[in-house]
Amino acid sequence: MNTLDQIKQSIQKAMNSAFYQKHFAGLNIEDIKTMDDFKKLPFTDKEDLRQAYPLGLQAVPDEKIVRIHSSSGTTGTPVIIPYTKKDVEDWAIMFKRCYETAGCTNLDRIHITPGYGLWTAGIGFQAGAELLGALTIPMGPGNTDKQIKMMIDLKSTVICATSSYALLLAEEIEKRGVRDKIHLKKGVIGSERWGEKMRKRIAGELGVELYDIYGLTEIYGPGIGINCQRQSGMHIWTDYMYIEIIDPKTGQLLPDNEAGELVITTLCKEGAPLIRYRTHDLTRIIPGKCECGLDYPRIATLIGRSDDMVKVRGAIIYPSRVEEILSSIDGVSSEYQIMIDHLNGKDILTLFFETAKNADAANLEKAVEHEFKQKIGLTPKAKAVGMGELPRSEKKSTRVFDNRY
Ligand code: ZN
Repeated sequence: MNTLDQIKQSIQKAMNSAFYQKHFAGLNIEDIKTMDDFKKLPFTDKEDLRQAYPLGLQAVPDEKIVRIHSSSGTTGTPVIIPYTKKDVEDWAIMFKRCYETAGCTNLDRIHITPGYGLWTAGIGFQAGAELLGALTIPMGPGNTDKQIKMMIDLKSTVICATSSYALLLAEEIEKRGVRDKIHLKKGVIGSERWGEKMRKRIAGELGVELYDIYGLTEIYGPGIGINCQRQSGMHIWTDYMYIEIIDPKTGQLLPDNEAGELVITTLCKEGAPLIRYRTHDLTRIIPGKCECGLDYPRIATLIGRSDDMVKVRGAIIYPSRVEEILSSIDGVSSEYQIMIDHLNGKDILTLFFETAKNADAANLEKAVEHEFKQKIGLTPKAKAVGMGELPRSEKKSTRVFDNRY
């Protein structure tokens, strides 16, 4: 079956749910004759899924549903995703493929620290590892003493963790001087935006090869893609899903190699098929075939969330890039604030950063402007302020104030 037919079949299934009956009201599947027709369909966003709470996404009769998962509800109504037996099996097949791509075998001992529960993490790592035939150690998070004891006594060879927990474990192992008792060879790390510095520290201190695993609760969970041993992007299992990259501001499709927001359409999902689902993850499709030989397309390491991105005079600016630039300049703190104004027909970007009182502010401003221009392609107006003068906030988005609109 070609991709278009697979997509049409998935839309047909999706339209059995209360949510898509409303979302695609008036749509006649037979009117979708080409991929271009498909690409005119409206996106599905997380907010839409929230409004389908609790089971508005369910696209099959009750007797087919065997499990639900839910994405975190800390910022509002949770999203509930129902799974059929086949969905659960398909997910495990994809996850097994991830472990194999990372070079794991049934002789590995897989130590799983992500949480088990409504969240898709722990149970996904578990099911894939069992299908692989590896010995699994279902630890869940926390209790570092016990984690390290089990890791030593059971000779765990693969650690599955978030990047921050992997770093914490690496530090504890170092602190306790037990590095020579650890048998870890690989780390399978839940993909999030994490710097090269952190990656090197974890890899170095644990003495492991690291693999980024990608996924989100709305689309099965972690395990829909992973780095291969070439470490040149994450392969995505496109026999189970169709991927597109769009400009997050305009919704326009972008060509390969251009960074934008990843949009996913499920091809095989039964319980809750999703059509053109906006992940809000920023990445790009890496063109060409990977040297590893795997015939699945690749996406680059995530560079942030589309909610955090701004575009100024054609240059795209992500907070992660700004942080990176500032951290590369001595004497500049990582605290910053960006103001974007529209003056005399021109967009002006002012970048405030903190420095020590005795620093040479004028020279640092020049250095910041130079680096910014080099890395982002736009010269900002850099302004040094004293240490502690910028407001502290846990929310990254409040670092950017766009006064143009
Ligand atoms: Zn590859």
